[in-house]
Amino acid sequence: MKVLIIGAGPAGLSCGYELAKAGIEVEVYEASPFVGGMARSFDLWGQRVDIGPHRFFSKEKHINEFFTTLVKDDYTLVNRMTRIYYRNRFFHYPIKLFNVLRNLPPTTIFMILWEYVRIRIFPYKDPKTFEEWVSNRFGRKLFEIFFKHYSEKLWGISTSKIDADWAAQRIKSLSLWEAVISAIFGNKGDKHKTLLDQFAYPDNGTGTIYERAADYILNHGGKVNLQTPVKGVIQDAGLGIRDQGSGTRDRGSGVTGIELKDGTIVKADYVVSTMPLTLLLKGLKDVPADVISAAEKLYFRNTLLVYLEVDSMDLFADNWIYVHSPEVKHGRITNFRNWSRELNRDKKTTILCMEFWAFDHDAIWTDNDENIAELAKKEIHLLKLVPQQTKILNAFVLRVPRCYPVYETGYQVNLKKVETYLDTVENLIPIGRYGAFKYNNQDHSILMGILAADKITQGLDTDLWKINTDVEYQEEARIKDVLIQ
Ligand SMILES: Cc1cc2nc3c(=O)[nH]c(=O)nc-3n(C[C@H](O)[C@H](O)[C@H](O)COP(=O)(O)OP(=O)(O)OC[C@H]3O[C@@H](n4cnc5c(N)ncnc54)[C@H](O)[C@@H]3O)c2cc1C
Repeated sequence: MKVLIIGAGPAGLSCGYELAKAGIEVEVYEASPFVGGMARSFDLWGQRVDIGPHRFFSKEKHINEFFTTLVKDDYTLVNRMTRIYYRNRFFHYPIKLFNVLRNLPPTTIFMILWEYVRIRIFPYKDPKTFEEWVSNRFGRKLFEIFFKHYSEKLWGISTSKIDADWAAQRIKSLSLWEAVISAIFGNKGDKHKTLLDQFAYPDNGTGTIYERAADYILNHGGKVNLQTPVKGVIQDAGLGIRDQGSGTRDRGSGVTGIELKDGTIVKADYVVSTMPLTLLLKGLKDVPADVISAAEKLYFRNTLLVYLEVDSMDLFADNWIYVHSPEVKHGRITNFRNWSRELNRDKKTTILCMEFWAFDHDAIWTDNDENIAELAKKEIHLLKLVPQQTKILNAFVLRVPRCYPVYETGYQVNLKKVETYLDTVENLIPIGRYGAFKYNNQDHSILMGILAADKITQGLDTDLWKINTDVEYQEEARIKDVLIQ
């Protein structure tokens, strides 16, 4: 059996690794010159950096096994320190009660409590938007302070248009009451994912995991082709036979391989795709008009990362800071000096990474690198996170297109149409962050990769679309033990 994988990110490489381990012929095709996708690491000014902050964490046994088998002992347990910067003050994240009380004026605290009590009595009945979901749990005032500005910078749309799914996946069921209890008594027992305060970080950057997975594939007879973009999959009408339930069988179309951008055709039994779902669909033949129109309503947000090398070793203690302040455009700053010692390679400077988010049509996305770097420098001084007199030695701008699938209200209806159609295309398995249009962390993409490989090797009928839609689903699927938290 031969399997082709489009994309050498966490989803593609975890799938390739599992297949190679099972003795299956695997070929990975990657458009860029690197492995790791959005989770790659790279050298910059003599140090090592990631694409923004990359904290790896999972409760799932197989994901943690994947990590520990590849990374071995070459990781550090990093104490997580992240804060929110808002109106010239730092707030601990996860929120700490006394820190909030100290940082906010009494009138605001009164409003927080008042709004909390009010929403407990008159909650939104069936919260559909991010705004309603978060307000129901924390009250309107806390929502405005800690969720609204950041989310609107990130997604570029009003929080009243962001689907509640995003909150449900990322914030879990934590309520103000639980936050208060945990602030007073600490978090004992079952921690919420967002409250994990230590994480395992590969010494040479998060990309180590994927560099080693690629090496494993190469050392076990597989191929990892870099700088080899895939144009699309090729189909053989009538190859697929899909069970439509209750005994009736319908002939669908099947995938028999891929076409590379240079026109080369490569044949295989299965294709696992992590390329953007919308682009994958565009390359398929005879897609019904309503599916195309549903796919056209799914869209992504881009990230612009500005790396600054600052002539200082002691700027602030956080791994990263969420910048809620509405007066600046960036939304998050990573300080790579506070991850693992190996990243800095004994250099005496600090590399910061500031994240700006944009749509294709936004002026900042098409602006030149010099202007974007200048804006970043101006903003970092404005926030006083780098003193005016401290030199910024270097700047580098990196564009990451299509990295956030936008969960606009109602997106599930359109996504479902696409999913249902793709399920009729035999031998094609779409997975990954933009491959399945899911706001995945590394662990979700790795799980998708592992389960896609199981599907192929064991002929399982696992519904991979469900991963990262419901945390319990993962638990049902495989979880019980925890190796690293
Ligand atoms: C700024 C930022 C911060 C993040 N922070 C964290 C974090 O703290 N913790 C965490 O766990 N996750 C984090 N993530 C998410 C994490 O990076 C992703 O979940 C993960 O990389 C997704 O893996 P993937 O394989 O699904 O997709 P990707 O990493 O996007 O990989 C897909 C690959 O497919 C390739 N490709 C696309 N089209 C084609 C084509 N036509 N032909 C060939 N190849 C193609 C791409 O070049 C890419 O290499 C962050 C992401 C970003 C952008």
